[in-house]
Amino acid sequence: MVDIENFWAECKEELSTSFQTIVYEVWIEKLKPVCFVDNKLVLSTIAQQAKRTVESKYLDRIKNVAVSKNPSVSDVIIILESQAAEFMEKQNDFSENNNSPSKTDKSQRTVKKCPFLEKYTFDAFVEGKSNAYALAACKTVSENPGTKYNPLFIYSGVGLGKTHLLHAIGNLIYKQSPKSNVLYVSAETLVTELISVIRSKSPEDNTHFREKYRSCDILMIDDIQFLIGKDATQEAFFHIFNDLYHENKQIILTSDRSPKDLTTLEDRLRTRFSWGLTVDIQAPDMETRVAILKNKAAQSRFSLSDEVAEFIAENSTSNIREMEGLLNKIIFFSSLSNNTITTRSLAEEALSDFIEDKKDSIDTSDIVGAVCKYYKISTEDLFSKKKTKNLVEPRMVAIYLITELLPTPLVQIGEIFGGRDHTTIIHARDKITDEIKVNPRIRITVADIKNMLLNR
Ligand code: ADP
Ligand code: MG
Repeated sequence: MVDIENFWAECKEELSTSFQTIVYEVWIEKLKPVCFVDNKLVLSTIAQQAKRTVESKYLDRIKNVAVSKNPSVSDVIIILESQAAEFMEKQNDFSENNNSPSKTDKSQRTVKKCPFLEKYTFDAFVEGKSNAYALAACKTVSENPGTKYNPLFIYSGVGLGKTHLLHAIGNLIYKQSPKSNVLYVSAETLVTELISVIRSKSPEDNTHFREKYRSCDILMIDDIQFLIGKDATQEAFFHIFNDLYHENKQIILTSDRSPKDLTTLEDRLRTRFSWGLTVDIQAPDMETRVAILKNKAAQSRFSLSDEVAEFIAENSTSNIREMEGLLNKIIFFSSLSNNTITTRSLAEEALSDFIEDKKDSIDTSDIVGAVCKYYKISTEDLFSKKKTKNLVEPRMVAIYLITELLPTPLVQIGEIFGGRDHTTIIHARDKITDEIKVNPRIRITVADIKNMLLNR
């Protein structure tokens, strides 16, 4: 049986390079794998509008990629998340049947053999100051699971390597002892599975679910913040956690924030998450970003000049997935014109659409609007001279986002903000830049607002 999570992860890898990053992030990345029904891959989305857009514009390409990964896929269907349970009832194992014997056999066997993405290994993970602790902890845990850091909790902003590290652990353990039962699951899948178990009301399904989780030697749950507000899953997970923990089974969790910032998650879970070791991954510095680009280029056998690597690294500072997207565009354009892009000006030209695009679509009023909505304050208050604490932070965040996302001159930003001096604007920008490095709450706030802006 094909593991749908891994199968869709592989498809997404490819799709992330074949769509514009913004299209990928807004429409494709959010699709969730539900199940296979009659060899049709079922994906879900939250909104009717998203379903329509994906169906009319992107479905063919998704289908092509899915079929290229496994020719037994007969179709791809998009459903609403609310229909997921209904489809899961109809699901059947995605079997190696009929249509394409040899290739299917091969690809399915690999998926079954080692469920972790081949390319996400420790060797392919570039070490830098920003990730050194997380990397060391993951390596220790792979060598001695269950004995030292249990649970291991890794947190960071998006696209900084959490999932890569989990797969690297899985790959290494699998290589060392192929019989060990290493289970990787995203928190979203855990929720979906539990909902279907609850809905089915079947005692066998319930036993199967419990067995699956309690029989593993190592449990990795990716993006645990997804359990926020999912009380039933938290309850079930609490018991799974206790059972595994008491049997010295290794538990590894990732999240976009630290356990203490998972504020609305049940306290008893948050406390447990802090029992072992908590490590974070920061945004990589310039040197690490360039090293990562060189590494990815080498994997694609692309000769990447220092100039172009630096140009890409300068233009993508806080999300490695996004940075890879830029590199892939350079590789793609180079192959189209049969002329490798080696200079900064050619790279600038090749990427101008993307880099401009993103900024073009946002203006100051969007940023101001998003900040006010996020902090639940009025624009009058944001622009006012009032210095109360609840206004100072949003004001600085808005200024920071404008300086980061738009080319607006500082003096003009000062004018927008009630005639403030440009040095005040510089102070606000620098203050938030520093805070992001040391204060996870501010980092998450800025990331959330950016997300609101990009996913409008
Ligand atoms: P997250 O799970 O934190 O959102 P991912 O693990 O999906 O991030 O990483 C996004 C992309 O960045 C992946 O392609 C991954 O290989 C790459 N990446 C992140 N950190 C590194 C690193 N230190 N070295 C090499 N690649 C990295
Ligand atoms: Mg991830």
